[in-house]
Amino acid sequence: MGHDVIIIGGGLGGLIASIQLAKNHYKVLLIEKYNYPFNKVCGEYVSNEVKPFLKGIGLDLDYLGATSINRFQLTSIKGKSLETFLQMGGFGISRYTLDNELFKIAKSLGVTFLLNTNVDDIQKINETFFVETNTNQTFEAKVVIGSYGKRAKLDKSLVRKFPAQTQAFVGVKYHIKYNFPKDLIALHNFKGGYCGISAIEDDKYCLCYLADRKNVKQSGGISEMEKEFMCQNPFLLDIFQNAEFLFEHPLVINEIVFTPKSAVHKNILMIGDTAGLITPLAGNGMSIAIRAAVIASNLISDFLQKKIRRDELERNYTEEWNRNFKNRLWRGRQLQKLFGDEFNSNLAISALNKIPFLLKPIIRATHGKIML
Ligand SMILES: Cc1cc2nc3c(=O)[nH]c(=O)nc-3n(C[C@H](O)[C@H](O)[C@H](O)COP(=O)(O)OP(=O)(O)OC[C@H]3O[C@@H](n4cnc5c(N)ncnc54)[C@H](O)[C@@H]3O)c2cc1C
Repeated sequence: MGHDVIIIGGGLGGLIASIQLAKNHYKVLLIEKYNYPFNKVCGEYVSNEVKPFLKGIGLDLDYLGATSINRFQLTSIKGKSLETFLQMGGFGISRYTLDNELFKIAKSLGVTFLLNTNVDDIQKINETFFVETNTNQTFEAKVVIGSYGKRAKLDKSLVRKFPAQTQAFVGVKYHIKYNFPKDLIALHNFKGGYCGISAIEDDKYCLCYLADRKNVKQSGGISEMEKEFMCQNPFLLDIFQNAEFLFEHPLVINEIVFTPKSAVHKNILMIGDTAGLITPLAGNGMSIAIRAAVIASNLISDFLQKKIRRDELERNYTEEWNRNFKNRLWRGRQLQKLFGDEFNSNLAISALNKIPFLLKPIIRATHGKIML
């Protein structure tokens, strides 16, 4: 028996889309590679633009111990520092907890989950999609959403071509215990990258960074690169010397690139990082994934009710995606060029220290309005 919608990948984008569609009583199957709860490389700072929306779908952030963050510190490679109040602010919560809670909400609404399963390929014949998994099963649906994150083998099966990449990054995450204010998010620069630290639930902190893959190779590994490059910043040196690291090994993802992608490919609606990854220093990839999931679900609902045709669904979604996110992603890429380079990061921080009111519009440029 076919489904109305199959969602590939159960991160924030996929889970929110499943919740929105199940609320409208559609038959939804979500296929996820892992089993909840699980950790994920992410800075775990969620912009407040999606807070009312998340509360509205039944997420009790206070009960879950989310922290409230409204101050921002930026440091240069050599440890020059500036601080500002965050107008919109955000909250801190681990993906381990957040994704698991959304999974529970989706399940309670009737979403069917297939966990520990990889989607290997997707074909469309006439008006039906055939979704093939690594367990040799095939599922049918009228609509497919691709929400499998920034990088997956599936892109190869789908022959998705991206512009040539100039620089690739490695993403690394730890949970730590450290003496640090809970209302502050800090972004510390180091040669070839930047590292964020902010509080999450249970008196823990998320330490997450993006590093130039070349430097990791050159140093001979993650911990060597941390010593050689990151610890030149006195703020990072203090963290590596004094924090208690709670994971046995760091969580690592390779080959992160920020090249533009397409929002629709082979009739599949792409959401979240699968449609385009904003540079993490903007701190709102999660809210973009949530917003895109809502936009896609509303249009899919119109399609399933035969209010719009498939070509209109795809065209309207592409237009909406571009209108909401294209410029934000571009600005994020430009902003990232200021970081990871000693001269640029020092210059940027000196200039912003002299003209502090410039920082607010810069932060605003990568953020959206409050979503209800
Ligand atoms: C270093 C770093 C730090 C970041 N920090 C922040 C931050 O502080 N705040 C913020 O808002 N954003 C941050 N982001 C961005 C944020 O993590 C993403 O934008 C967000 O997770 C996007 O959600 P998603 O649903 O698109 O993808 P994901 O959350 O990555 O979910 C994709 C899911 O698909 C599954 N999957 C993959 N392939 C398959 C397959 N073939 N079959 C089935 N399942 C599959 C994966 O297991 C995964 O669960 C950061 C990103 C990086 C790289």
